[in-house]
Formats: sequence, C-alpha cells, structure tokens
Amino acid sequence: MTTTRFAPSPTGYLHVGNLRTALFNWMIARKAGGTFILRLDDTDPERSKQEYADAIMQDLDWLGLTWDRVEKQSDRLDRYAAAADRLREAGRFYEAFETPTELDLKRKKQLNMGRPPVYDRAALRLSEAERAALRAERGQGVWRFRLDHDRIAWTDGILGEMSIDAASVSDPVLIRQDGQVLYTLASVVDDTEMGVTDVVRGSDHVTNTATQIQIIEALSGTVPRFAHHSLLTGPQGETLSKRLGTLALRDLRARGIEPMAVLSLLARLGSSDPVELRGSADELAAGFDLGHFGAAPTKFDEDDLVPLTARHLAGLPFEAVAAQVATLGVPEALAPRFWAAVRENIAVRADIADWWTLLRDGPAAPLVADEDRAFVAEAVALLPDPPYDDGTWAAWTTAVKDATGRKGRALFMPLRLAVTGRPRGPEMADVMALMQVKPRL
Ligand code: GLU
Repeated sequence: MTTTRFAPSPTGYLHVGNLRTALFNWMIARKAGGTFILRLDDTDPERSKQEYADAIMQDLDWLGLTWDRVEKQSDRLDRYAAAADRLREAGRFYEAFETPTELDLKRKKQLNMGRPPVYDRAALRLSEAERAALRAERGQGVWRFRLDHDRIAWTDGILGEMSIDAASVSDPVLIRQDGQVLYTLASVVDDTEMGVTDVVRGSDHVTNTATQIQIIEALSGTVPRFAHHSLLTGPQGETLSKRLGTLALRDLRARGIEPMAVLSLLARLGSSDPVELRGSADELAAGFDLGHFGAAPTKFDEDDLVPLTARHLAGLPFEAVAAQVATLGVPEALAPRFWAAVRENIAVRADIADWWTLLRDGPAAPLVADEDRAFVAEAVALLPDPPYDDGTWAAWTTAVKDATGRKGRALFMPLRLAVTGRPRGPEMADVMALMQVKPRL
C-alpha cells in the first residue's frame, strides 16, 4: 500500500516550488491507488499560523489535489517526546550546551584550518559533573542525535545511488533548548508511524535524508523510498526564492491562471516527457514517472502558464462554463452559441464576462480611424435595429459593399473595429448574430 505525504510548514503561502513537491507526492499516491496525507509541519508555534494552514488547503483545493487525511504535528508532541526517550535509552541522544556564538567560533576555526565545519562532539566528552555544572549555569541544553560514522546509502528515486559520509555531517539537533522538537525528528516519527512508503521532496533535503535514515533505523522504523527533485529556478536560472512573491499560487489564481495549466506544466517540467495540457489531474497521475526526472535545476517560466490557460479554456465544453455563463445573464437560447464564439478568444475566464458586456452593450468605445469615419457612418446607417440573426452579417456587408464599392479587408476590418472595438475576436457572422444592440459611431 503506497502512502505519501505533503508536509508544508504553515508559515507562508504555497508557491510553485511547494506545489511541485505536493503534486509529485499526490500523483504517486493516486497512480498507485494509495493514500495521500496532508501533514502540517507546525511545530514552530511562533511562525505557524492557522491562516496559512487554511490558505494551503484552499490552494490545494483550487488545484483539485485532494488529500485523504490531515495531520498536524502540534497534535503529536507526545509521540515525539516518546521517540526522544527511546533515542536517549538507546544511547543515541546527548545534551549539548554550546551557545550559538560558541558554535560559530568553532566553525570559523575549523574553516580557517581547512576542515569541514562539523560539530566536534565536545558535549559527548563531558563528565557527569561538568554536565551538571553547565546545566546549572546555562539551563537546559539542546539534544543532538549521535550519528554512526559510516556511510549512509540509499537508492534515490530521482538521483539514483546516493551515499553520504556521516562523519561529514554534524550530529543534528533534534530538540531545541526551549524544548521544541525540530522537524528532523518530528518528520521521522510521523513518516514511520503513518506508514509513509515514499517521500519525495526538494534536493535541499538530501542531507536531512541521510541523518533521517539513521534516526529511523535507531527507532527501528522502516526506511521509506526517498526521491529528491531538483529545485525550480526562474527562466534565467535565478533562484526562485527571490521571486516568491509573484509566484504564490494565490497570485496565479488571482491572475486567472487555470489549475490545469499549472498542474500540466509542473507535472512534467524537468522530465523527459513533454509538457502537454491534460484534462484532469488524474490523467497526469496516470502518465507520471518519477524516473523520467533529472537532477539538473528546472527552469520555470510563469509566462508558459498563459498559453496553457488559454488552450485549456478553449477546450472546455459548454457544460463546463454553463453556470458561469448563466450568471452573466446570457439568454439560455444563446448561451451555447455564445460560448462557441468566444472560447478561442479569451485569455482568462474573466474575459468571458467582457465579451458578454460587449455583445450586450456594444464596445465602450468603437474603434474608427479618421479616414474610415464617413465609411463607417454610411455602413451603420445601412444596418437595421436588432434583433440580429445568422444572416445579418452577410446581408449587411453585401449592402455596404454595393453602396460604397469597398471589399475585402477594407470593407470588413473597419466594421469589425466599429462593432467590437477590437481588432480580433470571433467570426463576425457570430458576433453579429449575438449582438444585442445596434453598433453606434
Ligand atoms: N516541512 C518540511 C518542508 O517544508 C517538510 C520536508 C519534508 O518533506 O520532509 O521543507
């Protein structure tokens, strides 16, 4: 049974980088008919906010990435405490009292001597008396996990065979001085107890994975399959974090980007499979293969979402927009025809309303070039009042052509500009059949 999880910290809004992680895990679970857990990593009480937790769920909802259950780390603190006790009993947990300044100094010295800045385990060498003295002087220490100094190896679902020398990594702090359990431990306890079989996350977590594998083994848990996807960069390779503000999912939503455009792009970007617009997230899941992704940073250009959005909308059947069209006040008899006419002429959903306003009221301002003013005036005089129908455009343009002698583009373009106020749009025969008012000059 496959179980995956998406584990955001509710300390901000989801951005496209988070979504990539969420989507991969969601697709793996759905493709396998397994379970997808939304886990809120909210052990940091200062930075975690309910408002962000709500926003994360709204964003996933918008995208249709359904979860089978929600877990909150703040509800599970007793489990983490129990795991910490077990690590203590197993002799894998030790208290350390260095201040951040002292640690910093140690790191600088090591770097000066050309050595990697790995914690020197001075706390392990303290005698009972020294430890008691430090505790009396400084209060509680932090709790570090004592790594076994051998190579930690795993087969990564994206990166392939991985191995990290544990001696090159500092013994991770799992509990802070104030008693707060840190992510590294909480995540292991959750993954183990919730039966998570596959963990996909960003490549910034590779070192965490090495230490977490040892912690899982120390707790006699089952090590899940790990995979680390590359991080997204901007189109020029710049780190995305600088641009987070513009790439929050809610900003994309506010701009009218469609969920299927976002999902279709992010489900395949960075893989050997082509990005193709799909009709549903389940379809994307069916064709998803983690093994097709590479380790290189993945360039993401939000502008790619614009044509995908337009194509998604153009492909929607009338039933998919019927409710929205009805709220605009489009008469029921005209609605399917209205949608057929405008679907390929919109960039975002909000444009549907603009087209209806235009057909109902005429353009805010007809576009008439000075040299066409007399021609358009003559043409408008030849047009009867509404209602119009399928034959209106042909009859009108024939009459205008006979009266003025104009033909081709010189005949049609000024009329399109006058009637719609735009150089492009649906076929004019459709526009005229749907027009509710007589164009004015
Ligand atoms: N809360 C962690 C993060 O957002 C979760 C990482 C993980 O998937 O283990 O980075």
